[in-house]
Amino acid sequence: MRAMTLRTRFAPSPTGQMHVGNARTALFSALLAAQAGGEFILRIEDTDAERSRAEFETMLLADLAWLGLHWQEGPDVSGPHVPYRQSERSRIYRTFIDKLAEQGRTYPCFCTPAELALARKTQLAAGQPPRYAGTCAGLTTAEIETRLARGLKPALRFRVPENGATEFDDLIRGAQRFSHRDIGDFVIRRADGSPAFFFSNALDDALMSVSHVLRGEDHLANTPRQLLILEALGLRAPRYGHLPLVLGAGNAPLSKREGGGSLRELRRAGILPEALVNYLARLGHVYALENFLSWAELARDFNVAHVGHAPAHFDHAQLEHWQREAVKHADSGRLWNWLAEVPELTALVPAERRTEFVETVRGNLLRPVEARVWADIIFGKLPELSGASRTAIRSAGSEFFAAAMRVLPEAHTGFADFANAVSAATGVRGRKLFMPLRAALTGLEHGPEMEKLWPLLTAARVEARLQHAAALCK
Ligand code: GLU
Repeated sequence: MRAMTLRTRFAPSPTGQMHVGNARTALFSALLAAQAGGEFILRIEDTDAERSRAEFETMLLADLAWLGLHWQEGPDVSGPHVPYRQSERSRIYRTFIDKLAEQGRTYPCFCTPAELALARKTQLAAGQPPRYAGTCAGLTTAEIETRLARGLKPALRFRVPENGATEFDDLIRGAQRFSHRDIGDFVIRRADGSPAFFFSNALDDALMSVSHVLRGEDHLANTPRQLLILEALGLRAPRYGHLPLVLGAGNAPLSKREGGGSLRELRRAGILPEALVNYLARLGHVYALENFLSWAELARDFNVAHVGHAPAHFDHAQLEHWQREAVKHADSGRLWNWLAEVPELTALVPAERRTEFVETVRGNLLRPVEARVWADIIFGKLPELSGASRTAIRSAGSEFFAAAMRVLPEAHTGFADFANAVSAATGVRGRKLFMPLRAALTGLEHGPEMEKLWPLLTAARVEARLQHAAALCK
């Protein structure tokens, strides 16, 4: 028999922006599928018409694509299980809800939200877990008819077996057991006719042949309900794995300040998606390799058994580490596109110099804006000299710069050549030689290697800057 393809999915509700928590869920799901040569699908859970918005869906798709995730099926790429947007699947839900109703597994519930809230409060006050008390479970057909005739709109509840328990083996948390006594009969269709999350989510996973579901642990208690629905329908359930939460420092929910804002904010702040992916893949999941990994390597070594049970803590310093690595590893075309998000850079850096520019400055920046100063230094005007640069220039003295200008025509092959010629002419060496030259040519005491900067600086610029330095010494 052919082994079943491993299929995972990400099923966001388009009710807000994508944050690092749900980005990690999407990433783990995509990596799990990629590791097994399986398929990753995207499903939009937009049954909550009031809170779902088309622009959030557009943003979610764009954010996932920016992150570098590829889905084989989804609302934008189609697939064998269309439609991939739950708001377009009402007919399917109706069919399966009818099936459950025919089997006597459901009943209409006329309880109002106020009645339910009161019952809940009473149960909590008595120290009992809140669960539906079963008020409408025993209504006779006549009682139901009377209520319907009065124009009341019922929700539809799923009848949970009174005895026994639902057990499953969570991919991350191991054996789970939920006694049916603790699960109240739950709503599968709201009074407005829309399917409840428990129902559409479970049904779609089964109909879309999803084999593995990774999702936040806030969904753990939903799982027995979903397994009961699928069992009643005779559908194959996926394996579920519930990921621990992503928290900020001190176990508090992740705050914006800690880098826990939306993906958009991280992107706007210049974070490279490769950096975020390398970090998120390690947020609550352990890789034996500690170096920067490509997508293929991340997928190859992903193992759901290496997901921890404890909450993961988002640490901005770690993200910065992966950002540094991502800048180091990106190819120059990729890095230029990243830098080009700063409009001044496209204006300052000549098209034919982009690669050299990127290779010169990549070791000195973590954000695109930081390249701005180097574009100015190389292709524009020298910014105001730093205090330390002035000191270095003044202590070298005007004779030093006069000599440097004299030997300039001899410096053909590069900065080392030039520095040697200055050294030969002045007898100055080491730091006392390099520091004033760097200060004069860049206005700063540190920065990219001079050897790399040199070919980008025109002879006229070099000369003017040496002259300026000489003048400063007077
Ligand atoms: N739409 C649900 C959510 O965003 C999906 C939960 C799940 O992955 O099963 O929380």
